Amino acid sequence: MCGIAGYIGKNQASDFLLDALKRLEYRGYDSAGMAVLSEDNALNCIKSVGRINSLEEKIKKTQLNGCLGISHTRWATHGYPTKNNAHPHSDCAGDIFVVHNGIIENYKILKERLIKSGHKFKSDTDTEVIAHLIESHFKDNLEQALLSALKHIEGAYALAVISKNDPGKIVVAKKSSPLVICIGENENFIASDSSAVVGYTNKVIYLNDNELGIITENSHKIISIARNNEIHRNHCNVDLDISEIQKNGHEYFMLKEIFESPEVMKNSTRGRIIPEEGLVKLGGLEVLDQNKLRNINRIILIACGTASFAAMVGEYMLEEYAGIPVEVELGSEFRYRKPIINSKTAVIAVSQSGETADTLASLEEARRKGALTLGIVNVVGSTISRETEAGIYNHVGPEIAVASTKAFISQMTVLALLTVYFGRIKEMSLIMGKRITEEIDKMPCLIEKVLKNDKQIKGLAKKYSKYKNFLFLGRKYNYPIAEEGALKLKEVAYYVHAEGYSSGEMKHGPIAMINENFPSVFIVPNDSVYEKNWSNMEEIKARNGKIIAIATEGDENIKNIADDVIYIPKTLEMLTPILSAVPLHLFSAYMGMELGCDIDKPRNLAKSVTVE
Ligand code: GLU
Repeated sequence: MCGIAGYIGKNQASDFLLDALKRLEYRGYDSAGMAVLSEDNALNCIKSVGRINSLEEKIKKTQLNGCLGISHTRWATHGYPTKNNAHPHSDCAGDIFVVHNGIIENYKILKERLIKSGHKFKSDTDTEVIAHLIESHFKDNLEQALLSALKHIEGAYALAVISKNDPGKIVVAKKSSPLVICIGENENFIASDSSAVVGYTNKVIYLNDNELGIITENSHKIISIARNNEIHRNHCNVDLDISEIQKNGHEYFMLKEIFESPEVMKNSTRGRIIPEEGLVKLGGLEVLDQNKLRNINRIILIACGTASFAAMVGEYMLEEYAGIPVEVELGSEFRYRKPIINSKTAVIAVSQSGETADTLASLEEARRKGALTLGIVNVVGSTISRETEAGIYNHVGPEIAVASTKAFISQMTVLALLTVYFGRIKEMSLIMGKRITEEIDKMPCLIEKVLKNDKQIKGLAKKYSKYKNFLFLGRKYNYPIAEEGALKLKEVAYYVHAEGYSSGEMKHGPIAMINENFPSVFIVPNDSVYEKNWSNMEEIKARNGKIIAIATEGDENIKNIADDVIYIPKTLEMLTPILSAVPLHLFSAYMGMELGCDIDKPRNLAKSVTVE
């Protein structure tokens, strides 16, 4: 994961580099560092363990002057999060500095070889071999040295390198980890993603895999690593607003993003639903041959983490209403299996960042085998959005909190849209199309109603914060939401253990854990499995377990069995997960806050998982 940034221009590099790290901090926060080349050609580097704030404090006390520099916020893969292992890493002489996002898979062999030839290592990271390799190939030109070094490197990388022996430039390279070059006026930037440069410039060039870039104050050049020839690529304009990356009065980004859920529904569906005709219009899919789409007879949804639970909801929707067999696959599993796919299979990657390494690798595998590859992605211009044949953007703006909430709501929404889209080109009736699209249209108001329970949910978090274990249970459409509720609680209230189960599966194991100190959160709306869920609640009660129920408004009976009830409005069964997820997101956030956790940056996590 990790966030990297670079600056070259007329201003003090450290100002942008620090600002960029703060915006990229969601990508990792084990340690941070910065290297700046001063006017008298000295390379100075400052590193610090922990959050960006501690690096900022150090930088305030030291003069880190210079108009060229690189910075890094780390999510450790190789080596403890210590100061020595913090990036930037340098060669023996301290003439070359490197920041890296990714994993150098053959670093052990390279390190042994370099040590044998006299190189002295200062860290346990895989990254440091890059600095020494460049040193061993350096004559007088940094890009040539990096090109030669890359020939020896296996693995994933987004790299930025500077050297006092070839000053006036930042050299970057990319393979499987994201990197953007951003064009300013008499200044240029590089970063892991475009949120880092909002307010500085909106002109962005996405580097592709196996490309190297050379950035000076007034120029940029991209070359192919394999062919060593120049590639001409125009910039794109990114329309991010600075307010989108600020908390806007909320204590945490996570809370801000949960409260954005109604807006998220509007943005993800705007211009896409035509309720009077029971149709969904997805501009992103119009580029495709419609016959190819009509012939799709199997869908594989690939996702990781929270996105995989949205995909499970999508599986139920698509099978029930579009009549297409669907499987949900974890990216980390799919890429190493021998999947049976053909040209009538659509493989759809679901990823907020569009950079999830396992999901990306799975897509490549699917494309190789001839499947139609599509993406449901939030970050515009991200690798998945570029590497799929077509796709649907979530349009929910930047999601900064590490734990995904608003993107999850949007992913389920987009999958509901896709259900109608596929359904209507297959067997779904006009009446059914109308029912679903009309209900989707109402969802923003229904979510607003759920958010009005905010105070009650905060109170419940206080009441239940003394418990150390929770079981989340739901069935059919709300089984994935039980998984999501448990995952979210584990992530943000990280002193608590939680498990998500299908309520039908509870008696096959988890019920053994239940007693008066092990509460269960039941998602039990008035749907086709209400009675089944009720029996499972009875089983919990018979073992003295406490129950918090997420139930449908008007269900007074539920109060006879549940200790606490959070109500959600009535909607179509397939859309209940969109409503039931919201109180669970709030519950996790407030539980985390009660327990003194930093809910935006949970322990050991990073947002976009760009390493295996
Ligand atoms: N492998 C490098 C390290 O451990 C970078 C990690 C990453 O990009 O997540 O420092």
